[in-house]
Amino acid sequence: MALSEKPETTRMRVLEDYFKQYPDTPREVILKIDLLRFGQWFTDAALAVTRGSLIKSYRLFSYDFLPMESMKRNENLKVPEHFIILGGMYDLQPVMVQMSLSPESPYVIDVVDDKLVLTGDGQVLCELRYQLAPNYYEKAFPDGTMYREIIAFGFFITVFRNCQYWGLEEECKFCDINWNARQMKQAQDYTLTAPVKKLENILEVANEIAREVVDQDGYTVPLSFLLTGGTIKSTLHGKKEDDFYGEYVEALKWGGNRRFINLQTNAKPKNILKWYRSIGLDSHHSNMEVWDKRLFEWISPAKAKFVGWDNWLKWTLDSVDVFGEGASKPIFVCGIEMAKPYGFKTVKEAVDSTTEGIEFLMSHGVIPRFNQWRQEPGAYIVKNYEQSPIPLDFYIQLMRNRYEIWKKYNLPLPNQSQLLPEARHLGVSHGTYEDYILLMENTYPPNIVDIVNQHSSPYEFSS
Ligand code: SF4
Repeated sequence: MALSEKPETTRMRVLEDYFKQYPDTPREVILKIDLLRFGQWFTDAALAVTRGSLIKSYRLFSYDFLPMESMKRNENLKVPEHFIILGGMYDLQPVMVQMSLSPESPYVIDVVDDKLVLTGDGQVLCELRYQLAPNYYEKAFPDGTMYREIIAFGFFITVFRNCQYWGLEEECKFCDINWNARQMKQAQDYTLTAPVKKLENILEVANEIAREVVDQDGYTVPLSFLLTGGTIKSTLHGKKEDDFYGEYVEALKWGGNRRFINLQTNAKPKNILKWYRSIGLDSHHSNMEVWDKRLFEWISPAKAKFVGWDNWLKWTLDSVDVFGEGASKPIFVCGIEMAKPYGFKTVKEAVDSTTEGIEFLMSHGVIPRFNQWRQEPGAYIVKNYEQSPIPLDFYIQLMRNRYEIWKKYNLPLPNQSQLLPEARHLGVSHGTYEDYILLMENTYPPNIVDIVNQHSSPYEFSS
């Protein structure tokens, strides 16, 4: 344990030690990394003012550190999907953070002096905003299915909410997709219980989002959608994986104007990728999860067995030729390379390994993305081994290296075609890899705080 991580030190003290140790890393990045490491919790006062905010969707994984059945205040139905930190004693620029609930976290969201704030070990660190729900969140289909459960925050569509990689020999060890779908069903709090989303429902909600963006902005803003879901190992509704997902890609792409379609699946050979391209796919994400070959085989045994690390890599590089620069963006579960018991034991080994992967991928035009690992209780690796928070140094050094390599290869800025106006300027909420670039390159518009405030739930209250 590093000196600054001793239990008696406060979070503010820990953060300030890291600000000093890494003066070139944006402070917003360091705080956000720590927020994703530990999750957040709410006071009753802060939970009472989430009304009207964009509620957490549990869209794919749970991203929480506790199960829904332990949420005594029905937090799963109240907390926002994301929150934005800004201002405060460190004069932070706005940064969007994915909500990950943890009652053990040193970070608690509270109302202090009539303002919504983020506290660390009880000390106020900065202000906080919740994003407002888009209008389509309140709409429902005649059978009661809420539009918001079909497409989350105008972007995220889990078409198939289970995975046919099943059990110890196949399921990725960090993944709680099947467990999360089960807890959502058991909670009886959600209107959609079928594992597969109907194509016609997705198309209708996408059209409603397009109508809303015209009402909001006065013109057809380009919209990006992400199609994702579990692996289809055999068939689903009588279709093999590519036929199943391909139908959604084609219909969504050509169902409206100015649409950019992303798809996450296993890595695919070039002829399949070319077929996807021909039906309208714009960007493919063959999520590799971890770079090191030995760890890939341990963490994602079915990906290793049915595709293999070498094919995964070759096909990911091939996808750049098919979809173009910046459109091959595999996810890595950032921090899983240090998971117990078989992960790297030192920060240096872990950073060196994954940096080697970033260098190799970026030198071929692939843009690896780093979704910071949350230790969900339903994931195999958390259920079966005691895990500790992954060191802050690991994340800071890796994100710094990624930024420098991104600059070296002159790769494109992130695509930010979104319904939510503030999300067009801020980095994604699940990791800091985009924030690092956007803050270092100073890409925010001068009125970014006004844009954030305009689309936020109330954050000042009169007592
Ligand atoms: S392929 Fe792995 S990470 Fe993806 S849904 Fe299946 S088990 Fe989870």
